[in-house]
Amino acid sequence: MNYKALAERLLPGEYPPLSYYEEKYPPRGLPEKAEVTRLAPSPTGFIHLGNLFAAIANERVAHRSGGILYLRIEDTDLKRKVEGAVEAVIHALHYFDITFDEGAEIGGDETYAPWYQRQRAEIYRAFAKHLIEIGRAYPCFCTEEELSRLREEQTAKKEITGYYGKYAKCRDLSEEEIYANLDAGKPYVIRLRSLGDPEHKIKFRDAVKGEITVTENDQDVVILKSDGIPTYHFAHAIDDHFMRTTLVIRGEEWLASLPIHLELFDALGFCRPRYGHNCSLMKQDGETRRKLSKRKDPELSLEFYRKEGYYPRAVKVYMLTLLNSNFEEWYLKNPSAPLEEFPFKVEKMGKSGALFDLDKLNDISKNELSNLSVADMGAFLKVWAEEFGTESQRHYFDDEEKLSRVLALCMGVGGKKRRKDFTTASQAMGFIRFFFERPAEYDEYRVDRQERASILTDFLASYSPADDAQAWFEKVKTVAGAHGFATDMKEYKLSPEKFKGSVADVAEILRVATTGRANTPDLWTIMQILGEKEVRERIAEALK
Ligand code: GLU
Repeated sequence: MNYKALAERLLPGEYPPLSYYEEKYPPRGLPEKAEVTRLAPSPTGFIHLGNLFAAIANERVAHRSGGILYLRIEDTDLKRKVEGAVEAVIHALHYFDITFDEGAEIGGDETYAPWYQRQRAEIYRAFAKHLIEIGRAYPCFCTEEELSRLREEQTAKKEITGYYGKYAKCRDLSEEEIYANLDAGKPYVIRLRSLGDPEHKIKFRDAVKGEITVTENDQDVVILKSDGIPTYHFAHAIDDHFMRTTLVIRGEEWLASLPIHLELFDALGFCRPRYGHNCSLMKQDGETRRKLSKRKDPELSLEFYRKEGYYPRAVKVYMLTLLNSNFEEWYLKNPSAPLEEFPFKVEKMGKSGALFDLDKLNDISKNELSNLSVADMGAFLKVWAEEFGTESQRHYFDDEEKLSRVLALCMGVGGKKRRKDFTTASQAMGFIRFFFERPAEYDEYRVDRQERASILTDFLASYSPADDAQAWFEKVKTVAGAHGFATDMKEYKLSPEKFKGSVADVAEILRVATTGRANTPDLWTIMQILGEKEVRERIAEALK
């Protein structure tokens, strides 16, 4: 077979010699240990926690080693393309402080541009042509129907599905048959002629999983589709080589394709990058553990964390806890250190499923938020409210002084211990609502209506905003005593039957009447913040 002539027929025209590309995309000239890593999403518009998980690992490895993290868009499958998806990826990751050094919509060192695979068609064709010339790729004329019949046949025989070995019908077409098909104008794809033998097991050193055994590839995978667009497998190999990627950290769902990738790198004569396959994020579901699912688990989508207003550092801390086994210990010793200082190591990444637990993340979030300053907390909430808050929530920020007092109280600033009332921005905004909006509903009172009314009326009669906390409480006690409620908790505990309740119940009535809630931070301070007029009006309203 005259492969050269066939290559010319299939991909006519002058292509630069392969050495041209080697020179055009030279090695990066970074220091020896510097890693070049990448994120290579398809522009589907859905960016999930697994992407963030891999992104953090890739980012840490690149930047700790003085290397580069770039963004490549794998848009060879147009059907999956969604408008604005690239910006969405950048935006979603930026929230978690993941910044790219170069890439699609980012720019950077133009040497390795463009970062959209669709704009790199010429390189893929040049290499496909080369593979045809050396007999490592061939045209396949099988139709969709033939291929699906083949799949059915293989499934029925319980054999591995795909185009390989004896099933690779077009692999051994004669020169005459090929040209006859071409002359008849039959559509075709270009396939790799695999030299692999599935009986051969190769030892492979995965950067994350350590030594693993991989079965040699024998699938004649498609490298160029009938429209001349490469497949992901082919394009990614060429791009990782010419973008000079040194390490690929990606989800373990790609492990199944690894044999194909290894063979492609060999066939193309490229040195491979190192691969590290990180474990999937699992969720405890009753007795079993399963992978987080797009359909069942809203927390899989990164959008969820922004909408709920998770504090980015909290999510990052949790991801790092799951990514590196020694992170938790380091963080305990360095709770306020910049996370960049953690000595992230690929070797410390988990080898099998990481359990993702939203409750654990919520605990971390409470902790992180409780450490913020009032100003930082206010700024964080404001950014969230501007994007996701309601119209009335956006007005919480009109009076900065009031907001600061509210936050200081809810965070326990100045107290013995910080309060941990806030988990996320949306939850915190709900928590502080009663300072800015009158209660729309009330928690249940434990004391009957008539008694309540009389207690509230008596309180109003004695209430003065000039009272300090102690004087205020004395007045509450007086009201309590006058209504047959114990003013001394010890006494009450000794013989509760003597009283209608205790001063705590009276305070609770005041609390619910003013805030709508049975549980709040210190009520005296709340009343101070609300001011006399508001307190009186709220209690009057509760009396109705
Ligand atoms: N385009 C693939 C994806 O959507 C990238 C796989 C890889 O990292 O090699 O995740």
